[in-house]
Amino acid sequence: MSHVRDMSLAESGRMKIRWVQDFMPALVAIRARFEREKPFAGKKITISIHMEAKTAFLALCLAAGGAEVHATGCNPLSTQDDVAAGLASMGVETYAMHGVNAAEYRGLLVEALSCCPDLIIDDGGDLLDLLSGDYAHLGKNLLGGAEETTTGIHRLHARARAGVLPFPMMNVNDAKCKHYYDNKYGTGQSVWDAVMHTTNLLVAGKTVVVAGYGYCGRGVAMRAKGMGANVIVTEIDPIKALEASMDGCRVMPMDEAAPQGDLFVTTTGCRDVLTRRHFEVMKNNAFLSNAGHFNVEVDCEALADMAVRVYPRRQDITGYELADGRTLNLLAEGRLVNLASGNGHPAEIMDTSFSVQALALEYLLHHASELGKQVYDIPEEIDREVSRLKLHGAGLRIDTLTPEQEAYLSGWQV
Ligand code: NAD
Ligand code: SAH
Repeated sequence: MSHVRDMSLAESGRMKIRWVQDFMPALVAIRARFEREKPFAGKKITISIHMEAKTAFLALCLAAGGAEVHATGCNPLSTQDDVAAGLASMGVETYAMHGVNAAEYRGLLVEALSCCPDLIIDDGGDLLDLLSGDYAHLGKNLLGGAEETTTGIHRLHARARAGVLPFPMMNVNDAKCKHYYDNKYGTGQSVWDAVMHTTNLLVAGKTVVVAGYGYCGRGVAMRAKGMGANVIVTEIDPIKALEASMDGCRVMPMDEAAPQGDLFVTTTGCRDVLTRRHFEVMKNNAFLSNAGHFNVEVDCEALADMAVRVYPRRQDITGYELADGRTLNLLAEGRLVNLASGNGHPAEIMDTSFSVQALALEYLLHHASELGKQVYDIPEEIDREVSRLKLHGAGLRIDTLTPEQEAYLSGWQV
């Protein structure tokens, strides 16, 4: 039985789901094939991804492929109650509620796993944590799963190295059709979408400090520059730092950037990127936001500890007034700003990421007997298939090599 906040919100959720699917042509094509071939017939799939319209459409595609789908969120703040109700009304068992506390969130994940799934999709490893601990018995039918995001992949590799990964996992994040587009262009747009509507302030002319110049950071910095911000990048990797410099960003340690920034975005996947010593020197009314996986990049506890007053300033903005009279503004409680105070990546982006997810699960199912308890890269053919579908959906065509060109490229003669 689904467990959502309010079923009377279902029509609003269904409207959002209908909207996004018009802009997800690759997944629409995959759904059509799944409807014909029913690759997941008789299988149960539990998915834990941001409970948002694009995720709902992925769940419906897997259901169209014959699966019994049980869906939950992967962050209590990104769950949209109307989408959860809409999805539940469309026949997918859904367990997700916005704003629940940590224990309730865990309870919803356990409900989603209680069907004892054959396959899972995880976004950050919360399902895997449960299946590796107190709820290992719910994994008795598991053939394996797929992981969506960078930090989740780091954790999978750590488990595999320690020999404690309980089943095979497909590395969706590192597929080209995922991180090239989702982490870079998706985060690049959705972070600014969230920051702009949450603050309702101008980006042009501001000094924006982006911590981390990986795929997410590059997207965030690139879009900030495009809107007229002065961009500073902080890094720990000399290669990425040099790239940021050649891309036209100023590069410096956070200690130097802290007093200069008007708006900070952390995208490192690391912890303690913005801490007490940075808060001590920041400008009055600086904005602090995080787009990395966990809410540990901005040290929210230190901020609360330093504050003489903590108060709401606008929806999703908390003001921390310090003893010297300055106020620092924290967006979305330091959680992923684009999802906790926005709609996440646009539909066209999630189309590629979720097409990889759908095909990765199908691959896993077909190859389950050959796979060990390891992390597996997505086969090149899936990347190619998704990019072909995407180009076709966008009405774009590309050139093909002539036999002479192919011979030229693969030979050594001029
Ligand atoms: P990445 O590995 O490509 O980039 C991270 C960068 O941060 C690296 O260049 C690294 O050198 C740098 N870094 C690490 N610690 C640092 C520190 N203390 N100070 C400065 N720089 C530091 O990873 P990515 O794909 O860009 O993902 C980054 C984070 O964002 C991950 O936690 C990932 O799960 C998350 N993510 C979020 C979204 C979203 O929608 N908000 C989307 C995709 C990924
Ligand atoms: N459990 C983590 C999730 C990490 S979020 C948490 O604490 O919130 C990072 C992932 O969110 C990215 O890899 C991206 O693919 C996914 N994402 C971004 N926008 C999304 C959207 N609109 N719908 C579903 N997933 C989205």
